[in-house]
Amino acid sequence: SVLRRAIAGGELVNYYQPKVALHSGRIEGVETLVRWQHPRDGLIFPDRFIATAEEHGLIHDLTFTVLSEALRQARVWMDDGLSLRVAVNVSMSNLTSLEFPEQVMQCAAEAGVDLKHLVLEVTESRMMSNPVSSLDILSRLRLKHISLSIDDFGTGHSSLSQLRDVPFDELKIDRSFVHGACRDSSLRAILEGSLGMARELGMRAVAEGVEDRDDWEFLCEAGCDLAQGYYIARPMPANNLRHWIEEWSERVVDMGVAVV
Ligand code: C2E
Ligand code: MG
Ligand code: MG
Repeated sequence: SVLRRAIAGGELVNYYQPKVALHSGRIEGVETLVRWQHPRDGLIFPDRFIATAEEHGLIHDLTFTVLSEALRQARVWMDDGLSLRVAVNVSMSNLTSLEFPEQVMQCAAEAGVDLKHLVLEVTESRMMSNPVSSLDILSRLRLKHISLSIDDFGTGHSSLSQLRDVPFDELKIDRSFVHGACRDSSLRAILEGSLGMARELGMRAVAEGVEDRDDWEFLCEAGCDLAQGYYIARPMPANNLRHWIEEWSERVVDMGVAVV
């Protein structure tokens, strides 16, 4: 298929979006977001090809193409004095294979990146469709000190007890509950409830879809740990990150947040 050739032929490019600490503005990590650089159609977004990859048995190859490039890039940043946690999105289909944890470890070893710098994001709504075998694989990943993040939180139906059973250490609140929460009392209730849950369970809370100054300030006061979104930065090619950090540190000073 066309997608198979694109994966093998190097047409996938990783973009990276910063995750920053709300109390200090400091960049803590980046999320890897894949794009397909199509020779004729230009840049294609993942919503248009991830499901196809899953349906056609290509998701293993896609995930490891993205992961190995992200780990290679993490090593480059580290050698450049930038110690970042690098997050990669994994599909539910990746978590059906018992070899998956070993393959991830091998990938990190080849790149020379310690597993504590790696975060795997799993979407909440897809996770609960297959809780038993995936739980085992998630636990094995966690035992290797890989961080696990529950993505798009609030869009699935996980109960408190399910959340407690799965060894997640990061909770990413879906952007539909983040942007504009300060002006909408029902969004605010969901957001604050999610933050309380993260705190109770000892998980770091990340708000996605932070689009403006009001979102930022509200999250700060609500005690959220990390923020990600267009207000901070759009996803960008790896080479733009250095320059973005310089601009951002100036913006943070103007915002009245001290960068630690
Ligand atoms: P996600 O993991 O929840 O990633 C966040 C998405 O929200 C990204 O879309 C990002 O560009 C977008 N976003 C970030 N900040 C804002 C904001 O302030 N406002 C709004 N409206 N949107 C924002 P993107 O890059 O199109 O990715 C869509 C989804 O595709 C991702 O959602 C993720 O589930 C999936 N995906 C991306 N890369 C991969 C991958 O390598 N493997 C797998 N399996 N899935 C991937
Ligand atoms: Mg994600
Ligand atoms: Mg998300």
